[in-house]
Amino acid sequence: MTHPAQAPFPAGADAEAERRLLDACFLGPYAENDTLLEKLVVEFLRDHVHWRRNFHPEDPPAIPTRAAQHPQYQAFEARMRRELHRLSAALKHSVPFHSPRYIGHMASDLLLPGLAAQILTLPYNPNNVSEDAAPVTVQLEVQVGLQLARMLGYPDDPARPDCAFGHLTSGGTLANYQALRLALALKAFPVALIAAGVPDLELPADDAQAFNLGPAGGIVLLEQWRRWLGQHPPAEQARWRERVAQARIEQLGLVEFFRRHPTLRVPQVLAPITAHYSWSKGLKMLGLGRAQLALLPTRDMRLDPDALEETLETCRRDGQPVLMAVAVLGSTEYGTIDPVDAVVAARERSTARGLGFSVHVDAAWGGYLTALFRAPDGGLRSREDMRREYQTFPQPEVHAAFAALADTDSVTVDPHKLGYLPYGAGAFICRDHRAMELLSEQADYVFHPEAQDDYLSRYRQLGQFIPEGSKPGAAAAAVYVTHRVLPLDHANFGLMPRQTVLATEAFLARARRFADDMAGRVTAMVPFPPDSNLVCLALNPQGNRGLAQANAFVRRLHDQLRCDTRQPLQVKQFFASMTTLRHSVVGEAQMQRILAGLGIDPATIGHTDDTDRVVILRHTLMNPYLIDHENGISYIDRYFDYLATHLHALAGGVAA
Ligand SMILES: *Cc1c(COP(=O)(O)O)cnc(C)c1O
Repeated sequence: MTHPAQAPFPAGADAEAERRLLDACFLGPYAENDTLLEKLVVEFLRDHVHWRRNFHPEDPPAIPTRAAQHPQYQAFEARMRRELHRLSAALKHSVPFHSPRYIGHMASDLLLPGLAAQILTLPYNPNNVSEDAAPVTVQLEVQVGLQLARMLGYPDDPARPDCAFGHLTSGGTLANYQALRLALALKAFPVALIAAGVPDLELPADDAQAFNLGPAGGIVLLEQWRRWLGQHPPAEQARWRERVAQARIEQLGLVEFFRRHPTLRVPQVLAPITAHYSWSKGLKMLGLGRAQLALLPTRDMRLDPDALEETLETCRRDGQPVLMAVAVLGSTEYGTIDPVDAVVAARERSTARGLGFSVHVDAAWGGYLTALFRAPDGGLRSREDMRREYQTFPQPEVHAAFAALADTDSVTVDPHKLGYLPYGAGAFICRDHRAMELLSEQADYVFHPEAQDDYLSRYRQLGQFIPEGSKPGAAAAAVYVTHRVLPLDHANFGLMPRQTVLATEAFLARARRFADDMAGRVTAMVPFPPDSNLVCLALNPQGNRGLAQANAFVRRLHDQLRCDTRQPLQVKQFFASMTTLRHSVVGEAQMQRILAGLGIDPATIGHTDDTDRVVILRHTLMNPYLIDHENGISYIDRYFDYLATHLHALAGGVAA
């Protein structure tokens, strides 16, 4: 399963060769590759048919060959066709993610290898809950975890005791939740060892030390405990296993666990204020409560390391445990990249001072950008090497953030976002798989020679470790095949993120020209430089000083740029999305700068939803055909031309 994939495309090859490779990657904006997809679908559907027939060819057909002539059959077929036509007609109102005129949310065309693999796998209907229900695709899912681990810089050799582990989820939301579960299990486990009175281990002196050991210390203890257990006869082992199990937080529940350990406080999760709302959901689901999510301020839209440091200091003083610090790699609203390196450094310092915690990176959006930083041999590319391909990307802070991924504890990546794969495919990856035993439903965190030795066979019982039960094997097949066809390094998969970063640089340059061209009519500005491939645009009609009016103006513009099922799709010229800038997110100084740039009077900031924030346009530049070299068309230019024409009409009404 782990043969090195053929690199279809050598590193550093020219733009022309890149374009020819890109030609084959997607169905395409005009469905240019229709024949290719059709050939693949038919070929593998036939293949599936033969597989069914060859299972026991001696069994005669159960459905009579004349069945299709029966009126009941025909009536059923007619009904089915009618409904399918209705569905197909209704779907014509879908969002045209495939088009370079779509720069709204985090969706685009689908990579052909993934789409074909998914369609191919569907009729086999594998269920990745366990190998009994998916002997093939469950292995592919474990391999996907290793492929992503390699991209992130985690150990990816299953022969290593500390190899990483990853699995798919329905999306980033559940992957983030899995990160919380794992961090809590690891945090509370040393406390259970003390409570159970396990002798001979190097246990921390008290509950507080045990609870604040940090993930690395937790794993060391887990290993010690496993070795200790292995020295005992089976009956003793079973007795001790049970004793520890009875003391664990997963067994007791939060209420009883904290009642038994009165010196411990409920731990907090520290995340930047730009964090996705799945973190709020996760804390609610886990039962820790939304109040345990401490949102930290940002500096230039990125997590402020000084604020993190101060918060940790306060926590240490107050005996407030920290479950995890979250860094966002590509924020959902603004695409900004948090200083992962600073968060890792803070964990090291804090752990040394007795306040350990896990570092999780929410890279649901930006995870696949890591491919740009990865050389085909697995090494990290230098910033100098990368800089040749772009105008300004990656900024030194951005490079440092990606370089530090290898030192984090776990990561969320969404193949269904920048992986260009069908929904729902999120992924959770942890750096050291040994902690995963703590999540096992069968209390399998014990010495278990066969399962222990063999990484791959252990994770074939995937359902034991994940929040879900039954889950689509077809999704795993899609991700696996895509990563094989396009290995996760800059020379292969990197093709896709590179187009998006280049498109962003083109968009920025065009936005500046647009701002100049519009001067005197509409003030336009990019409120902050993008770290990756999401760009926002703030607008205000010339002469307007009121925030409410400016917001109403942008909302009216956005009405033209969003889905509207009451109109035929073709009426729409472009799709963009919208977001807001709030004081709490951008900070006072930045807010003042942006308002001044737009010519808005800060005194017009109010307290209602529409007057306490700046409404802005948001553009997700992930379509690989935004710059159409074949026809010499830039959809970015066309978008700004469209905005210019449209703004004339809109601005008239407001400035008056
Ligand atoms: C999209 C996103 C999520 C949630 O992922 P889903 O796949 O929608 O569940 C979480 N975090 C970030 C940063 C995201 O961009």
